[in-house]
Amino acid sequence: MDTAVVWFRDDLRVDDNPTLADAVAAADHIVPVYVADPRRQATTQYGTDKRGPIRARFRRESLLDLRESLRERGGELLVRTGRVEDAVPKLAEEVGAEAVYAQTKPATEERNREFAVRESLPEDVRFERRWTQTLYHLDDLPTPYDRINDTFTPWRKDVEQQAEVRSPVDAPETVSVPELDVDPGEIPALTTASSEPPADERAVLDFEGGESAGKRRLETYIWEGDHLREYKQTRNGLLGSNYSSKFAAWLAAGCLSPRRIYREVQRYEAERVSNEDTYWLVFELLWRDFFQFQFLKHGAEFFTPTGIRGVEKQWSHDHKAFRRWAEGRTGVPFVDANMRELNRTGYMSNRGRQNVASFLADALGVDWRWGAAYFEERLVDYDVASNWGNWAYQAGVGNDSRDNYFNVLSQAEYYDSNAEYVTTWLPELAELPAEYAHRPWRLDDREAAAYDVDLGVDYPRPMIDIEARYRELQSR
Ligand SMILES: Cc1cc2nc3c(=O)[nH]c(=O)nc-3n(C[C@H](O)[C@H](O)[C@H](O)COP(=O)(O)OP(=O)(O)OC[C@H]3O[C@@H](n4cnc5c(N)ncnc54)[C@H](O)[C@@H]3O)c2cc1C
Repeated sequence: MDTAVVWFRDDLRVDDNPTLADAVAAADHIVPVYVADPRRQATTQYGTDKRGPIRARFRRESLLDLRESLRERGGELLVRTGRVEDAVPKLAEEVGAEAVYAQTKPATEERNREFAVRESLPEDVRFERRWTQTLYHLDDLPTPYDRINDTFTPWRKDVEQQAEVRSPVDAPETVSVPELDVDPGEIPALTTASSEPPADERAVLDFEGGESAGKRRLETYIWEGDHLREYKQTRNGLLGSNYSSKFAAWLAAGCLSPRRIYREVQRYEAERVSNEDTYWLVFELLWRDFFQFQFLKHGAEFFTPTGIRGVEKQWSHDHKAFRRWAEGRTGVPFVDANMRELNRTGYMSNRGRQNVASFLADALGVDWRWGAAYFEERLVDYDVASNWGNWAYQAGVGNDSRDNYFNVLSQAEYYDSNAEYVTTWLPELAELPAEYAHRPWRLDDREAAAYDVDLGVDYPRPMIDIEARYRELQSR
């Protein structure tokens, strides 16, 4: 083949990218393109932005880095703005491509866009798609995706016992572009949302987009910092760069491949230590895989209020309550600290995510999809399957038939026993002993005066009687 277009989507890397590698192997010339489709930065039906400024910046950096890597290999990354089903076929025609290579993704909108591109291609242009974002390949699942178990543990055991992780594919050494008289194109803002919050020294990490930064994080976390040996013990942490890997943002944009991470874990196990902690990172990558395949199986059901199990629940649509949650003004410190961290930095720990999701869905009874859409706007590591899958799970309409809620007060006291996390993000409570920092409503007037905290002025009074609410939930 003379020329092929490689349409980059959420696979912004040259390493272990079979879409790129296969195109390079099949064609003499490659035209890589990224399309900034305005629909990916539109407003959702919930009034949130599909992509907030933090993730938009991360993606721009990822595109710049990809362009740089392709240029180093003699190639180029074209960037176009418009609907993908217009831009990709137009480019294929302009450059006389015989095929378009692209990553295929499980979620509904992504699949619809892919089908629309395929439909719009000239008849003589082949569409070649590759499954590239999971640890285990779709074709290697012991049970076909449409019949997989909806419960994680049996699914995981099946896969671990009966499937193998394929080896990562090396980055192509050269990417040869045809002689083209086309403008490579500027990388646009990628969001219509307001500007990014200023850098915050409390942020767990400076999340810089791109494959190069992702690889550096892999190196720092696993090798230089030697943190993998204690991952399972530290992963429920709340403060600092290294209690968990922070790989998610690079995985979501496809800057890092899960197979490359797996390969590094194996190498670490061979060269340093192999224990439950080192395995646990792979275990978590399996959770990620699980939601990807679940999305392929259930599709748009994941976005319905009743979820994939058709669970009928009464959801509140109280906008005021939702805003207090989103802005970190509920008056429940552990929830507010986590939401303020998210709003300022684009990141929140897994422990935090579970708790704030449970607070919204279980304690307030607010439509869980509002929370999921809010995370979609804000998270630097937003991934459609991981986000909506985890939200549905927490709301009791997803891949867990038990209706579990998190008691955020006991969670806070357990995971933040000295209230260091809460007071980092809520400095107005810094003078309080841990017991009160987690339950400031228990202060009487004399104590409040002694600690110089004016509840309702310095920090909000709780929006609900949360202790009574948990007694009610427990008695059900
Ligand atoms: C309500 C809610 C929403 C979430 N939304 C997202 C999201 O949009 N994008 C996202 O990547 N993760 C999401 N997660 C999962 C998890 O919280 C994050 O992956 C993790 O906190 C990211 O930090 P890390 O990379 O340091 O994770 P680590 O603890 O270092 O885990 C390693 C990797 O495993 C994967 N992983 C870990 N836990 C999960 C999980 N529960 N589900 C799926 N994958 C997992 C991630 O790719 C992560 O990078 C969500 C969890 C909850 C409860």
